[in-house]
Amino acid sequence: MAKEQDVRYLRLQFTDLLGVIKNVEVPISQLEKALDNRIMFDGSSIEGFVRIEESDMYLYPDLSTWLVFPWQSGGGSVARLICDIYLPDGSPFPGDPRGILKRALAHAERLGFTSMNVGSEPEFFLFKMDESGNATTEVNDQGGYFDLAPVDLGENCRREIVLVLESLGFEIEASHHEVAPGQHEIDFRYTSALQAADQIMTFKLVVKTVARQFGLHATFMPKPLYGVNGSGMHCHQSLFIGGSNAFYDEADELGLSQTARHYLAGILYHAKGFTAITNPIVNSYKRLVPGYEAPCYIAWSAKNRSPLVRVPAARGISTRLELRSPDAATNPYLAIACMLRAGLDGIEQKRTLPHPVNRNIYVMNEIERVRSGILSLPASLRDALDDLANDDVMRDALGEHAYRHFYEAKMIEWDMFRTTVHPWEREQYLSLY
Ligand code: ADP
Ligand code: MG
Ligand code: MG
Ligand code: MG
Ligand code: MG
Repeated sequence: MAKEQDVRYLRLQFTDLLGVIKNVEVPISQLEKALDNRIMFDGSSIEGFVRIEESDMYLYPDLSTWLVFPWQSGGGSVARLICDIYLPDGSPFPGDPRGILKRALAHAERLGFTSMNVGSEPEFFLFKMDESGNATTEVNDQGGYFDLAPVDLGENCRREIVLVLESLGFEIEASHHEVAPGQHEIDFRYTSALQAADQIMTFKLVVKTVARQFGLHATFMPKPLYGVNGSGMHCHQSLFIGGSNAFYDEADELGLSQTARHYLAGILYHAKGFTAITNPIVNSYKRLVPGYEAPCYIAWSAKNRSPLVRVPAARGISTRLELRSPDAATNPYLAIACMLRAGLDGIEQKRTLPHPVNRNIYVMNEIERVRSGILSLPASLRDALDDLANDDVMRDALGEHAYRHFYEAKMIEWDMFRTTVHPWEREQYLSLY
């Protein structure tokens, strides 16, 4: 395939703990070495990976992820393979996010579930770039949700993104303008968890690359602009046993199986604990505020769209839960691993599902919410890290190595934010005091 498609370079890809895609690029002459799992890299230079003394890491490519990028570079094509990370002694590196997801999936299999399916809905903004190619926060349309805006750069760009994704094997189910000016969403068909996480990484790369070709900057930053909707990445999920959806039960009044109810109960139970993973940056918490369609209270409903978890109306094979809190700054491998382990814990512990909240939670006052037993999601990265630290199941899902490195890196991030003097503070206080 490399010969047929004139591939000159091979990118061996993996994702670091913070959700950033990493490449080791080798000329195609190294293909055999790569296929023999003999390509090495220095893990000590990657955020959250290892200590200096144990820095040698090996890349084991997953051959099912072979893909030739549709853009040329340096007079030939570039292909990529997504890799698992192994230690020199041949054991999987415990801090590899892809390995962490595989561990969670093995846990599901031990409980009798053959696969987890995930369908994500990443949202993003397209911003103009200035003359020097730097991102601005200027948009070039005034479109709103599902608007058929007069054809503009953003629309054309989104259309091209869809075509490129389709050429790479993505099945695009929907593509539309989102609520805020310059904001877009492209939905692709659900697939098994590991592939879904790989696809999210590929999706972000494609969106950013195509946008740049249009002179636009694509960002998945959760809340780039104050006062308008932020960008989320809703995650639809279901468990399958063979070809049948374990969340579906025809006989149930809501069409939901006991498995689905326990899973949902587990998601709600661990929601505070996994938020540091699904919403991992300081800015994530500027999105999780009332008024912009993002969830901030821990509740579920089959009737309205405001709560943390929605049960979409489709039943049968499409029965699923939609977790609405995650944003695309997340490391999708860790996020899916944590959501899965949260749900599985609900099944293992037979956790009871609280009543659905079919009222609009956002018009309830705090007393009403407390009376209805509705808790809030953590309000800051700092709170979320405390909640993660207190959740043994989520820590077990990550494993000690990843948990420790994640926690430490995020505490540093929080401290930098905490000690910075922000423009808002000067605006409020400089002349007043
Ligand atoms: P919304 O109404 O929240 O915008 P969409 O219809 O845009 O939802 O997205 C639905 C997502 O759910 C798609 O990615 C779709 O492929 C996915 N999906 C459908 N069936 C399942 C399932 N059984 N398990 C997981 N995801 C599913
Ligand atoms: Mg959608
Ligand atoms: Mg939709
Ligand atoms: Mg949306
Ligand atoms: Mg949705």
